[in-house]
Amino acid sequence: MEKELKGNNPVKTLKKIEEFIIPFNPPVQAFEKSIRNTPFRILISILLSSRTKDTVTKGASKKLFNIADTPEKMLKIGEQKIKELIYPVGFYKRKAKNIYEICKKLIQIKKVPDNFIELTNLPGVGRKTANLVLSLAFNKPSIAVDTHVFRISKRLGWANGKKPEIIEQELKKMFPEIFWNKINQTLVGFGQTVCKPQKPLCNICILKKDCPYNIQKKDK
Ligand code: SF4
Repeated sequence: MEKELKGNNPVKTLKKIEEFIIPFNPPVQAFEKSIRNTPFRILISILLSSRTKDTVTKGASKKLFNIADTPEKMLKIGEQKIKELIYPVGFYKRKAKNIYEICKKLIQIKKVPDNFIELTNLPGVGRKTANLVLSLAFNKPSIAVDTHVFRISKRLGWANGKKPEIIEQELKKMFPEIFWNKINQTLVGFGQTVCKPQKPLCNICILKKDCPYNIQKKDK
């Protein structure tokens, strides 16, 4: 396991990161602001965002919602049109199919579910998407572990798991529930701008003196 962050107080560290990244304007912040809308639009935008840059998702969501912003309207325009409108998001063919199937289900159940089990029963909705929807659409405490949260939690010595669901549990034990919804946005923003996957900008990082990953790197 990575050594722990020196003087590790995860809540304080999270707050430090949150303030530190403000001047960097992480794309995730503009994206999440832009999708705060109905639970349906939030769900679809999050689905579109997987493996896609936030700026591309933002454009695709706008094009799609200008034409269809309810399950009924999506079914009316059909899968082919959805595909055309969301292009060039990653896996746009599969996503168009999933969106179409989700809309059929939502019409049957009459709402976007506000619980993890029902959300993950929707086509193409996995653990990360469900947690993000719970957090952004329903303000329910949850932690979505994406690639940034996964990597940074390990670099900081907060978590050691090899799978996102294990990291999620480790973070849930470490942070009081009131902070769960902050973790994804803060670490994604940090990962997009400073603690990047390749060549993290440790020399300008506020955590550089105490970060186990940076200390280990220097020791090598
Ligand atoms: S010091 Fe480097 S590895 Fe550690 S948190 Fe900062 S950018 Fe990431």
